[in-house]
Amino acid sequence: MLTERVQRFDLNAGCELRFAANNYSDISLELINGYAEIFGTELIANQKYVFPAKFRVAVFSWTGGTIKIIGGTESAYISSESTAMVVYLNIHATLEKLRKDREASGKDFGVTQRGPRIMLVGPTDVGKTTVSRILCNYAVRKGGTPILVDLDVGQNNISVPGTIGAMLVQKTADVVDGFERNMPLVLNFGHTSPGENLPLYETLLKGLASTMNSQIEENPAAKLGGMIINTCGWVDECGYTCILKSAAAFEVDVVVVIDHERLYNVLRRDLPDFVTVTHVPKSGGVEQRPRHIRKIARKENVHRYFYGTSSSQLYPFTFDIAFDAVKLCKIGAEPLPDSCLPFGMEVEDHRTKVVVLEPSPEIKNHLFAFSRSSNVDANVLTSSVWGFCVVTEIDMEKRSLTILCPQNSIPSNILVYSVVTHLDDQLRR
Ligand code: ATP
Ligand code: MN
Repeated sequence: MLTERVQRFDLNAGCELRFAANNYSDISLELINGYAEIFGTELIANQKYVFPAKFRVAVFSWTGGTIKIIGGTESAYISSESTAMVVYLNIHATLEKLRKDREASGKDFGVTQRGPRIMLVGPTDVGKTTVSRILCNYAVRKGGTPILVDLDVGQNNISVPGTIGAMLVQKTADVVDGFERNMPLVLNFGHTSPGENLPLYETLLKGLASTMNSQIEENPAAKLGGMIINTCGWVDECGYTCILKSAAAFEVDVVVVIDHERLYNVLRRDLPDFVTVTHVPKSGGVEQRPRHIRKIARKENVHRYFYGTSSSQLYPFTFDIAFDAVKLCKIGAEPLPDSCLPFGMEVEDHRTKVVVLEPSPEIKNHLFAFSRSSNVDANVLTSSVWGFCVVTEIDMEKRSLTILCPQNSIPSNILVYSVVTHLDDQLRR
């Protein structure tokens, strides 16, 4: 009989246990005594948390605790360098104070004020996504309901790659699965880097911000909870412009720069004075992810969208639809040479044009968004989407598409193209 490897780790106050599950099997983790949390979610004593192979975990303890791990781990070590977590806790305390102050001053005037809006920026692999998760979790643990906004079209944590989105966070993140994706507001960008279509990205930023601004007027708790905004790791050239435009669109109060000192300095110079810019270190545990690992992470994200996770599985449907039953479109027309542009039309306009897409074999394996727009017109740009499907087959003779879809019928007949592709392996993981 194979005996499973059991390891015990005693964590002192302010220490963090870091490891990855090995490449071959799940591991189970349990808090035996004391206190510990994973990216801001408190662990329940004697509950077994099962992580899939390769999963990277950091278990932090503010007061000390003992952890038991069953299964193979890679490079497990305890770090006593607790500066980063203390800094993140301080940011949370600052936000909490702003929430309280605004709640009090709003009460004086019989209104609800907007809670603080904080944006996390920095190069790739510094822990932006992790810090946004920690801050959301801490806010929820204080009884708040912040809005998590994810502007990262490469590694989005709210929906599939190629989107930006926002959602109300009412529960702390599941330690394995992350936040419950509860009725998010999602816009389809259709590319995995903002640089593929900057005018469109900017249009979507403004669209998302203005929709959220009107939605929070209906929900005072969400309005007061504020926003925690995650961004992508492109910080140079146009990526820098995207940061400035995102800060303006969401009218942020605080920008936290993780790790990158030059970025901190230029943002202090370029952002308006009422925006507080702070510079914080990155945690020593953050993993560097090369290109191919990011690609795999995107694939896993799409797979998860359709099939769920091992603890909450989803059962997607595969069915045919006639070409005539849907209208396919894409954003961005072929550029016209300058000399052909009608008078007054800017060169960039063609990039935010919604154009009809004729079904062709090339769309096989592409993701399509179900738009909430009722026509193929400019409304498609900033309309949020019902969800996504993948075109798994296309039959030009029968004039029909086969799609993989979360539900058994299409929620909208306007399907918007995404360059993101996915090969449906039909596997449950
Ligand atoms: P990207 O540029 O891809 O968006 P990022 O800056 O958002 O990256 P994260 O995704 O937060 O970085 O972190 C990168 C990886 O490091 C993740 O797998 C995360 O789980 C891991 N990680 C984050 N913090 C720690 C830590 N303290 N110890 C161990 N691993 C960590
Ligand atoms: Mn990230």
